[in-house]
Amino acid sequence: MPSTCKRILVTGGAGFLGSHLCDRLVAQGHDVICLDNLFTSQKINITHLLGKPNFEFIRHDVTHPLWLEVDEIYNAACPAAPGHYQYNPIKTMKTSVMGAINILGMAKRCRAKVLQFSTSEVYGDPEVHPQPESYRGNVNPIGPRACYDEGKRAAETLFFDYYRQNKLNIRVVRIFNTYGPRMHPFDGRVVSNFIRQALENAPITIFGEGKQSRSFCYVSDLIEGINRMMDAPDDFIGPVNLGNPVEFTMLELAKTVIELTGSKSELVYKPMPADDPSQRQPDITLAMAKLNWKPTIELREGLLKTIEYFRSIDFKSFRAPTPNY
Ligand code: NAD
Ligand code: UDP
Repeated sequence: MPSTCKRILVTGGAGFLGSHLCDRLVAQGHDVICLDNLFTSQKINITHLLGKPNFEFIRHDVTHPLWLEVDEIYNAACPAAPGHYQYNPIKTMKTSVMGAINILGMAKRCRAKVLQFSTSEVYGDPEVHPQPESYRGNVNPIGPRACYDEGKRAAETLFFDYYRQNKLNIRVVRIFNTYGPRMHPFDGRVVSNFIRQALENAPITIFGEGKQSRSFCYVSDLIEGINRMMDAPDDFIGPVNLGNPVEFTMLELAKTVIELTGSKSELVYKPMPADDPSQRQPDITLAMAKLNWKPTIELREGLLKTIEYFRSIDFKSFRAPTPNY
């Protein structure tokens, strides 16, 4: 009988999403290689895996070529929080584009199946709501978010060209805002910011009037969807939206976090960042039909688990990845 144990590479595997994916793949008995340059993460996310015989960590930057023999690749390496990807925008673009070229070249050589962690940011500030995969987006190509949005769009282009030109077995998932334990406490993203601020009884920073919306997916739901997409039949390559379609304003999120933490924090209003999308909600019809997938964890339940994690960590032991925080 052929072995069901696969050799799997996870780039960005020490990050928030990547480390949860590594947990799952290691538990499934696969031979997992986690590759990361630790730009926006710390080894603490994977220390519990380091002693396992079917897990290894490689510190490497995906903008440099790599040479490994694997059956599957999950390409998650890229700074994802606005403050992180805007810190060195040229490097962010290089990570998406040169990273994709290196990963796809390697996949072509060893005939590995390769899944790209794309993003709802490919839709920019969307004029179509909710966003189906067929929507081509509204991205400002020269704005401060472009290094990430356009880098991820170019990576999708490369994936589809390797599929058409080299018959590579690809998958593309477009991930909408996901949160949960192991988010970096100083990543500046809204869920981590609000929870950290609430636990410290510090002012909660609302950008703009807080009327902009996002749809928040709990990490375990997302990892389930990503794993299903990798295992989907070869005639379904995506792109497919993965996210929780229940939409909240930032003001609603702040009030819920204050209630769940019992915080004394007050709200303070800060200027709205440039090109900040005013609304975002995934249309997940395709994921439901093709992957039989939909999120199961409601926001309050997911926030309670995330708050519990943030209570358990010592913020002082986390190094802010960029000087912006
Ligand atoms: P994260 O910052 O925790 O993880 C990204 C990981 O990639 C980090 O460990 C970082 O050190 C690593 N990395 C960055 N540049 C690298 C490079 N040049 N070489 C090697 N490693 C590098 O963020 P995350 O939320 O876990 O995001 C993971 C992936 O999912 C990213 O590709 C991101 O674009 C995508 N994504 C995430 C979300 C979300 O809401 N969390 C939404 C859409 C897309
Ligand atoms: N945001 C906010 N206060 C914060 C951090 C973020 O009001 O302290 C807002 C931000 O302007 C955006 C939303 O929350 O409208 C989500 O921001 P995040 O950086 O988490 O993700 P993204 O903008 O990439 O969806």
